Amino acid sequence: MIPANFDYIAAKSLDEALSLLAKHKDDAKLLAGGHSLLPAMKLRLAQPKLLIDLGKIKDLSYVKEEGGQVRIGAMTTHFEIETSDLLRRVCPLLPETATNLGDMQVRNKGTIGGSLAHSDPAADWPAAVLAVDAELVLANPKGERVIKAGDFFVDLLTTALQPGEVLKEIHFATAKGRVGQAYLKVRHPASGFAVVGIAANLTLDPSGKCQSAGIGVTGVGLKAYRAGAAENALKGKSPDAKTLAAAAEHAADGVETNSDLFASGEYRKHLAQICTRRALETAVSRAK
Ligand SMILES: Cc1cc2nc3c(=O)[nH]c(=O)nc-3n(C[C@H](O)[C@H](O)[C@H](O)COP(=O)(O)OP(=O)(O)OC[C@H]3O[C@@H](n4cnc5c(N)ncnc54)[C@H](O)[C@@H]3O)c2cc1C
Repeated sequence: MIPANFDYIAAKSLDEALSLLAKHKDDAKLLAGGHSLLPAMKLRLAQPKLLIDLGKIKDLSYVKEEGGQVRIGAMTTHFEIETSDLLRRVCPLLPETATNLGDMQVRNKGTIGGSLAHSDPAADWPAAVLAVDAELVLANPKGERVIKAGDFFVDLLTTALQPGEVLKEIHFATAKGRVGQAYLKVRHPASGFAVVGIAANLTLDPSGKCQSAGIGVTGVGLKAYRAGAAENALKGKSPDAKTLAAAAEHAADGVETNSDLFASGEYRKHLAQICTRRALETAVSRAK
């Protein structure tokens, strides 16, 4: 339960963090809130020789709206998202997701960027960023690249981040029109992580039909995913109870489901379908 010896540097800027990463390569690890990395180090699952702390880089912590986009710095804590007035107004899905995440200590220290970079299959943020069709800005020594959330989660604890890259920002278009959102989670009773978590983001057209749908799913497979077949089953339709139930049946289509001592793959699939229906019903009831 004691980590292997390591050095520690608090980077003062993103550029400094990038050049430290370039210099120390695989020997170094970025430290954000430490709520996933430090437990892994204590279990000696990770043994970095150097921790590069991003915590002092103020430029990486913000929530703002600019040019029709909501922008969130990677070092923004779960608590800052939970309590952001801007997000409560323009994208309540994110504060609602944060409220469901961990406990107060975790929310005070853990960051959205750390959670996304870690890509735990039962983490909450991946479902939410998928549902709002977010893009992620990855900084590297040569500049930046932008990747869709749908392409970022590659496999269990594996993302599209390349060696030497730092996740800098998460952004997405500010929703317009009649938008309804909801996050619904079945918690594991011991860890509090998602056995299943569903993020729903619907836009209705003026006649009340579903114009666009984003459904992010976590906990079910090795990585979070968008339930594309369920989304397609909603588009252009009136979101009545029958349509929502029929769409929700597709929540785990084509997904190899996780199975463990607590929940079999079959049970997770069933939960995904039930939770998707309920999340969609709540999202529709909130669309105004
Ligand atoms: C008791 C407990 C309960 C929890 N419950 C939940 C829960 O219910 N739901 C949930 O989703 N999570 C939960 N978590 C995890 C929590 O959300 C963590 O905050 C999150 O997983 C990691 O974020 P962090 O900022 O702590 O990152 P860290 O632990 O510091 O880093 C995690 C990984 O990401 C890398 N990294 C960090 N920042 C960046 C960056 N900007 N660019 C590139 N790589 C980066 C690090 O090198 C490391 O490999 C829980 C944690 C604990 C300890």
